[in-house]
Amino acid sequence: MKVLVVGGGIIGCATAYELAKAGCAVTLLERAAPGAEASSAAAGLLAPLGESSQTGFARLALASWRLYPEVVRELRERTGMDVEHVTRGTIYPMAATDARDVDEWALAPEFGVERLEGADVQKREPALSPRVRRALFVRGDHWINNQRLVLAYAQAAVAAGVELCAGASVSRVVVERGRAAGVVADGERHEADAVLLAAGAWTSELVASFGGQLRIEPRRGQMIALAHVPAVLTYCVHGEAYVVPRPSGEVLIGATVERAGFQRAVTAEGIAGLLRAAIELVPSLGELPIARTWCGFRPWAPDSLPVLGPWPGVEGLWLATAHFRNGILLAPITARLMTDWITTGAPGLEVGDFLPARFGDAS
Ligand SMILES: Cc1cc2nc3c(=O)[nH]c(=O)nc-3n(C[C@H](O)[C@H](O)[C@H](O)COP(=O)(O)OP(=O)(O)OC[C@H]3O[C@@H](n4cnc5c(N)ncnc54)[C@H](O)[C@@H]3O)c2cc1C
Repeated sequence: MKVLVVGGGIIGCATAYELAKAGCAVTLLERAAPGAEASSAAAGLLAPLGESSQTGFARLALASWRLYPEVVRELRERTGMDVEHVTRGTIYPMAATDARDVDEWALAPEFGVERLEGADVQKREPALSPRVRRALFVRGDHWINNQRLVLAYAQAAVAAGVELCAGASVSRVVVERGRAAGVVADGERHEADAVLLAAGAWTSELVASFGGQLRIEPRRGQMIALAHVPAVLTYCVHGEAYVVPRPSGEVLIGATVERAGFQRAVTAEGIAGLLRAAIELVPSLGELPIARTWCGFRPWAPDSLPVLGPWPGVEGLWLATAHFRNGILLAPITARLMTDWITTGAPGLEVGDFLPARFGDAS
């Protein structure tokens, strides 16, 4: 089967890789370079534990989290790249009034959730402000270098036979007699048996190109990297902002969630808010040099859930987008379930919450 994948973010690269492993002839069309957008802007947190493990989204997130150790090993074997998978755990400072109860979380044992009180908070992470008197420690929350991960997936995809067309901007999906016949990129027509749209926050434009309608919007996120030398922090800390120490010698601070269209700007207010929140949690961060700031556009759908599956009424047209705040976490499972679905007709997981058809205006 010949498949065209549009978009070389984490979702497009991971899915192209899995499709090639499953025996498909895959062409990946990316208008810039792999990982040019949200997938490189992210912080790389892999944190699936929420208040409830009963939703379809929580099950998807957990399934993806469980795949990570194997994915990291496989990508290292195939590409030699170390994607900096850190498995130390995250500290969630809690207000005195926070009623979250560890025992209510069905997944608590698998995630090694612990409650920290009083001096035990600073015993675990001495860099935390003495004002933090209660916290949850979640050992199962991991993090990864997502810039490396997306490139590792892209490299593994190419090694598995994917034809990577970087700098190829798709202007149109070609729909003929009710089926997706291919796409047009820079005036050139590419034919295929199936087309997968994984163009992140830009997916609506591609849907509109064949007369469909789908509301995927950008949600801007701003980020800061500080030079983390000497290192002050061991664990990830997740309060009003999150603070992520990386093996590469930076500590990341993120992230805003803003409705600002595609305005590619880091703002004074955005950065000031993040720094204030981070320094309140970890005062010694205030002395570290700012290395970089950036922003990216999370793909968001009106119910904040991913959009996965076949486009109704057009045979051979598939979507994998709108992963919003969790696209790095969800990439391994998305890639596998889309591959199963496209090649066998069955996704292998409960996906009812994610179908494009849930939006009445999908046409
Ligand atoms: C600041 C920030 C922090 C985040 N932190 C985390 C986190 O800690 N953990 C987590 O799990 N998630 C996080 N996310 C979310 C995550 O980054 C996204 O959900 C994920 O990257 C989406 O991947 P994608 O491949 O769908 O989109 P993208 O990475 O945006 O990729 C889409 C690609 O499609 C290409 N494209 C678009 N239109 C066309 C076209 N017409 N032709 C050809 N190519 C096209 C673009 O150039 C782009 O490369 C964060 C996001 C941001 C912005």
